[in-house]
Amino acid sequence: MKDILQAFNLKQPYCNISTGQKDWVGTSGKTATIHSPVDNAVIGSIALADVESYDAVVAKANEAFPIWKALPAPQRGEIVRQFGDALRKEKENLGKLVSYEMGKSLQEGYGEVQEMIDICDFAVGLSRQLYGLQMHSERPNHRMFEQWHPLGTVGIISAFNFPVAVWAWNAALSWVCGNVCIWKPSEKTPFSALACQEIFKTVLKANDLPEGISNAIIGDSDIGRRMAADQNIALVSATGSTRMGKSVAETVGKRLGKSILELGGNNAIIVTEEADLNAAVPAIVFGAVGTAGQRCTSTRRLIVHKNQYQDLLAKLTSAYKQLQIGNPLDEKNHVGPLIDTNAVNAYLKTIEEAQKQGGKLAYGNEVLAGDAYTSGCYVAPTIIEANIDMPIVKHETFAPILYIFAYESFEEAIAIQNNVPQGLSSAVFTLNMQQAEKFLSNAGSDCGIANVNIGTSGAEIGGAFGGEKETGGGRESGSDSWKAYMRRQTCTVNYGKDAPLAQGIVFNL
Ligand code: NAD
Repeated sequence: MKDILQAFNLKQPYCNISTGQKDWVGTSGKTATIHSPVDNAVIGSIALADVESYDAVVAKANEAFPIWKALPAPQRGEIVRQFGDALRKEKENLGKLVSYEMGKSLQEGYGEVQEMIDICDFAVGLSRQLYGLQMHSERPNHRMFEQWHPLGTVGIISAFNFPVAVWAWNAALSWVCGNVCIWKPSEKTPFSALACQEIFKTVLKANDLPEGISNAIIGDSDIGRRMAADQNIALVSATGSTRMGKSVAETVGKRLGKSILELGGNNAIIVTEEADLNAAVPAIVFGAVGTAGQRCTSTRRLIVHKNQYQDLLAKLTSAYKQLQIGNPLDEKNHVGPLIDTNAVNAYLKTIEEAQKQGGKLAYGNEVLAGDAYTSGCYVAPTIIEANIDMPIVKHETFAPILYIFAYESFEEAIAIQNNVPQGLSSAVFTLNMQQAEKFLSNAGSDCGIANVNIGTSGAEIGGAFGGEKETGGGRESGSDSWKAYMRRQTCTVNYGKDAPLAQGIVFNL
């Protein structure tokens, strides 16, 4: 990993709080040492920023904004295109770093970088399509239309489980919209973030553009709080727990700022009597154990028709027995580690509590020990037979724990699916068209994402991504999500000789 850090110019100990200016050091006096959850080895150490260094980064971003927004949008798109190309070249190194620092499988590490490349491509096209509408004015010889302008400096707070992709979703769109960005990545995965900054910095330098267009600041949640409270930050796009989102929403709301909130999920799959289990089983297993259950879209609840229940449980238990757990950089393994031992404790506590509340352990509940598991962060994916009266099933535990419920009527299944505070991703497996359409209708899933015969986890960048209720209501990535990164202006031009008023109001002088 040392070679990879060096390839990204991340010399040790890494002191720059922003890639913008080489000689800046975090003035907090605090240093974080980052251990890999894969083998507990030290990846590197890093100086943490304090509020003063934060203010210096904001000043640099604000200076860059007028230069960046003055470029026509397609020219900004050209810079993002070059960034996408640079990522293509660095896919292998960056994918490995993401995998090692976060603990997700190498394939998923590469997948994250691919997602960044995809959103760059999307943003390049978007840079020629930031369309406003034109509408007919009620007044003669008047033209009325909407146009979209950049917001200013956008703050991006990201979570550990997607160390790079979520930033790219925000940053690529934000840049073509004419904004500059300050990224506060998770303090658990700073090196992946800094590697991205180094890649983008090279592109900016080659185009003689200020580095303040893209900034990173490494610090703990205090830096995130500061960002939320800062009038200089026109939009705060925050990804993380619902607890964090509530705090950000309150602080940003108090100053009437803008926010995009992408928070916790508690995603369910309904398996009906008419489901094809051959398609359902791999989707359920990938959704529940992929990324060791640490995706916002991980499958946490399985709602199964009573006639399929025993058969599906047996199939799942058999599939779980075949899972290989171990070093995620070894491609034969299906499941890697949790992010840290706090996450392991949360896993154990949740299983214990679920059993106290009446859940029956069907599989798992084990922290793996031995030479392959020296970090202490590897756990067995777990299945718990549950009932809807258990309060714990309404909580998101960021671990591979799957609750399974039996239902009798399809309406009951939908009610169970919706009966949680979160509303991110949902899915139904059925070959019955009426059930599929009902699930997608307004009497169906209340989530931001609703899939048919596809699991809950893994989204394409072309659609708007996000969820309802305690998931925060934000939308990122594809479709028209870009509108949240711009301000809308309604314009009316009078090209006549009179000055008529709207609503026919007469005002004669
Ligand atoms: P977290 O909330 O602990 O931290 C996320 C980020 O927020 C970090 O950068 C952290 O420093 C910062 N932060 C924490 N408290 C803050 C505060 N009060 N003000 C400002 N910033 C603050 O989350 P995590 O453990 O890193 O990630 C897991 C959570 O993220 C899960 O709940 C998961 O569902 C969610 N998540 C959601 C999405 C989505 O798109 N909906 C995507 C990824 C992760």
